[in-house]
Amino acid sequence: MNRREFVELGIAAGAALAVQPTIASAGDAPAPQHTLPPLPYPYDALEPYIDAKTMEIHHSKHHQAYVDGLNKAEAELAKARSSGDYTTIEYWSKKAAFNGGGHFLHSMFWQIMAPANKGGGGKIPSKLEAALKDSFGSVEAFRAHFSAAAAAVEGSGWALLHVRPSDGRLIILQAENQHKLTPWGVTPIMGIDVWEHAYYLKYQNRRADYIKAWWNVVNWEKVEDNYLRIVGR
Ligand code: MN
Repeated sequence: MNRREFVELGIAAGAALAVQPTIASAGDAPAPQHTLPPLPYPYDALEPYIDAKTMEIHHSKHHQAYVDGLNKAEAELAKARSSGDYTTIEYWSKKAAFNGGGHFLHSMFWQIMAPANKGGGGKIPSKLEAALKDSFGSVEAFRAHFSAAAAAVEGSGWALLHVRPSDGRLIILQAENQHKLTPWGVTPIMGIDVWEHAYYLKYQNRRADYIKAWWNVVNWEKVEDNYLRIVGR
C-alpha cells in the first residue's frame, strides 16, 4: 500500500490521519508524520460495556505507541534511502507493517463504536443490512460468524469485516497482531480488537463476554459509511 492509498483508506475509515510533510533531507521524499487521532467521545462514553480506564490506556498509551512506532519505522526507512545502507531494511519494514496496521485499525476501531444511547448498537442501516444478507445469508449468521472469529483469534489480534471490491462481497477474517492473515485486495470496514489490552481490566480471561457486550456499542451508521465509501453510494 503506498502512502496515498494508506491516507485514503484512513479517511475511508473515518480516521483523522494527519499527514504533514516534515523537512526532508536533500534528495529524500518527505516522511509522513502520523498523529494520534482524538477519540470521538469521552473515555467513559462506552460504559458499562467498555470501561473508562481501559479506553484511556488503550487510546493514549497503546494507540500512541503504534503511531510512534510507525513514525520511527518510516523515519528509519527514509534514513536508509538517504545513506544507501539497507542492512536493517527487513527489521524496519516489519515494524512499519505492524505499527501501520495498529495505527490504521485503531483509528477505525474508535470510529466504528459509539455510546449505546448515541448510535451504538442501533439499527443497521438498509444498504449495509442488504449487503450483510447478500454475503452471509442473514444478519444473525453474520453476527455469529464474526463473534466466533473474534473468540477464536489465537493470541492477540482482531476479527475484521472486509469489503472485497473485486466481487463486491463482504468477508470476515481474523488478523493476528495488527496485520497478519490478510489477503491483498480487501479493506476493513469494521473490526473488534481482541488483544487482552482491549478488555482485560474488566473481563479478564472472559473474551466471549467482552465480544457479546461489544455489539452494544457498534456504530452501524459509521460501518455503513465505510462500506459505501468503497463500493459507491
Ligand atoms: Mn488495541
